[in-house]
Amino acid sequence: MIIRFAILPLFLALNLSMCKKQENASSSSQQASASSPTPVATPLAAASPKITKPVVDQTAQVLIFCYHRLVDKIRYPGTEITPAAFEAEMKELKDRGITVISMQDLLAWKKGEKNIPPRSAVVTFDDGWKSQYEVAWPIMKKYGYPFTMFIYTEGVRGGSLGGGEAITWEQLADMRDNGVDIEAHSATHQDLREGHTIMLASTGGKRTKTKLTGPQYEQWIQNEVVGSKQLLEQRLGIKVNCFAVPFGNYNEHVKEIARNSGYEAMFTVYGQPITFTSSMDSIGRYAIEANKPKVFEDAVKMIATSTGGGAAVAEVGAKDLATQPADGETVHTALPLIKANLSPIGAIEPGSVQLRVSGLGVVPANYDPKSGTVSYQVTQKLHEKSCSVIISAKSQGKKVEAHWTFGIEEGAAGGTSPIPTPKK
Ligand SMILES: [Zn+2]
Repeated sequence: MIIRFAILPLFLALNLSMCKKQENASSSSQQASASSPTPVATPLAAASPKITKPVVDQTAQVLIFCYHRLVDKIRYPGTEITPAAFEAEMKELKDRGITVISMQDLLAWKKGEKNIPPRSAVVTFDDGWKSQYEVAWPIMKKYGYPFTMFIYTEGVRGGSLGGGEAITWEQLADMRDNGVDIEAHSATHQDLREGHTIMLASTGGKRTKTKLTGPQYEQWIQNEVVGSKQLLEQRLGIKVNCFAVPFGNYNEHVKEIARNSGYEAMFTVYGQPITFTSSMDSIGRYAIEANKPKVFEDAVKMIATSTGGGAAVAEVGAKDLATQPADGETVHTALPLIKANLSPIGAIEPGSVQLRVSGLGVVPANYDPKSGTVSYQVTQKLHEKSCSVIISAKSQGKKVEAHWTFGIEEGAAGGTSPIPTPKK
């Protein structure tokens, strides 16, 4: 108990040292979407390529909140919040049109596999406190919000750091059975970097301060990062793919161990709106504390101002829409048929589809809601060597746009072999 209290206030002081260097995650998902089949360089090709992935809104933003204990009487304002203040924040998310999504939906969106609302939030609870089960969960149920529990395994009731206020394995199992996402937060909740002072439990329950290096450190860090994951997975029969770094203290070596052991995402407490390209191994969360009510307000305003008002446009790739002619293709007619398939975008608002062609402006394109196909047969010869197309439509109140360019061979209609000219 004493140790839990001693460790947690440090959270505040130590949480600002995060780096966000890597862009691995975003580049790999872009590669994945670039691997869909390319249409052949024939303007009137009948077979459209199959859409292998849904089009996700890459302009969506996600706030991730991190809560600790919910108590009526605040004694540790750095990690506590009253149930009333907590519920008011959950209500505010709803009132402001911010959709609370599950952690796994966030990861699916980051991989380009699933769409999420343009303004979303993920709610997480750290450290495994009884009040998260008894107080927070009923409030989350009331709003129908999914959430994630980040557990450090020795802090569960019965563990070497699991005092009277700690959550029990039975409570975690109950949450699991009701769809709550349970993820890892190390074994003993300490600074994970080599050579930093940690407390080690020795036989007999005594705890000693020490600094580990070399093989001893490697053995310890394995248990913190990998052992805690395995214990949660085995004890609860779940898959753990997220790791919340205690105090946000880690480095490349810790990241590498986490990546190699199957974690897909690592979380810090450096709050910032998460975007499609945010690095997966330093996802910032807003730590919400009783003594800093502005943190929540500022976070909510961040995404309210940047995507509010309906002016934002989600850009989708021409390839995903199986455009014809394809982006970068060269056709040998000045009277091409222009086509795109909007079905990967989802439900399209009737009458919102607009097709613009450079040199022509808005053209009277034909939209077939059944197939999702927009088409326009150019009737006036295109004069330029390259033609740009902009297609726009509204889906779920949001404007979605795709831009692409194709070339027109000189002496069109009578030319010889078409030469594709990739522009990227
Ligand atoms: Zn923690």
